[in-house]
Amino acid sequence: MMQGSFPELAPPSRILLGPGPSNVHPRVLHAMLTPILGYFNPDLLTIMDRVAEMLRILFQTRNDMTLAISGTGTLGMEAAMLNLLEPGDTAVIGVNGFFGERMVEIAKRSGAKIVEVPSEWGRPLDIEAVERELKGHPRVTLLGVVHAETSTGVKQPLGELSRLAREHDALFLVDAVASLGGCEVAVDEWDIDFCFSANQKCISAPPSMSPITVSDRATSVIDNRKEKVRSFYVDLALLRQYWATIQVRPYHHTAPVSSIYALYEALRMIMEEGLEERFRRHERNAAAFRSGLDALGLRLLVPEGYRLNQLHAVLIPEGVDDTRVRERLLHEHSIEIGGGIARLRGRIWRIGLMGESSNPANVLHLLAALEEILPQEGYKVPSGAGVAAASKALANAGT
Ligand SMILES: *Cc1c(COP(=O)(O)O)cnc(C)c1O
Repeated sequence: MMQGSFPELAPPSRILLGPGPSNVHPRVLHAMLTPILGYFNPDLLTIMDRVAEMLRILFQTRNDMTLAISGTGTLGMEAAMLNLLEPGDTAVIGVNGFFGERMVEIAKRSGAKIVEVPSEWGRPLDIEAVERELKGHPRVTLLGVVHAETSTGVKQPLGELSRLAREHDALFLVDAVASLGGCEVAVDEWDIDFCFSANQKCISAPPSMSPITVSDRATSVIDNRKEKVRSFYVDLALLRQYWATIQVRPYHHTAPVSSIYALYEALRMIMEEGLEERFRRHERNAAAFRSGLDALGLRLLVPEGYRLNQLHAVLIPEGVDDTRVRERLLHEHSIEIGGGIARLRGRIWRIGLMGESSNPANVLHLLAALEEILPQEGYKVPSGAGVAAASKALANAGT
């Protein structure tokens, strides 16, 4: 056998301002260095109970079934669809971006009938079209939507959709992968039946887990399924026994211990900051960043009123080379931003200010870098204007 020798692992440290992952605080990374425990160890179970407790605070819910799935946000989405749907069901899904499309793709694999409601990318969902589909089918069991559409930067208002779901007796499913921890997600108040998220966006833990919460109504749908969930790994009837505070917690799969530690510490940091202050911080930094963009003459894809604070879809100016700018940001400034995906490829940059990454220094650094790079790439900007506008906005906001 050839053995060879491989260099020591040395990934560079970058400022992560893309659509996720976001930067992780050293406290959270450090949590991953603490000792591994077995999956029945009482100390680990206590830590998991506290994770669930903090997740209830973050999701603003009293749902008993609140836990973290061992996998990224996509597995949370899959868990939702495979547990809530079965052949014979009909689900309506709103699609105004890449992650809505993914939701449809995953839902179809449950064997249920899936009715897609397409809306323009970069705009909120067409509520009337959603209502038409809810009315147009004999019995819709689920309405699924994305709260923070990371492919476009749209923040989807949920009030009216929640009301429609209730009116048609459909479960209300919300993808909060990019919203949880960055803006309000009020599961009980908004009557959400199944909400899933991910570690690495506004929670700022390493990618690895997907926090979920399930209402009693959805739990009883899962309890009364005709057929078994077509996945063993994310079968919530089994998983909840391991996460629940009951006498016997049967083995299901080996808990990703270090990832649970990291999530624990990231949630503890969120609790210390306080939800309201955390959302205000995202708001302040986003507002400053937008004034900076505005001063540089850069425009956003999403109209005012529907913009996320944690993800900005910036229209790439005519004639500017998308890839070159992103490469220069990475290599000359150590800043990672995202490009557009699917039909928005080459049209937008996706700039995230999520969790740990949402801070004034990052806003100013990125604007300064753009001010330097863009004129060299064929797009004139008033020198210093972006940084000045953002600094002024931050000063006015008292930071
Ligand atoms: C990132 C993201 C996902 C997918 O999550 P992964 O952790 O990459 O699997 C799903 N939905 C939205 C809205 C996202 O932003």
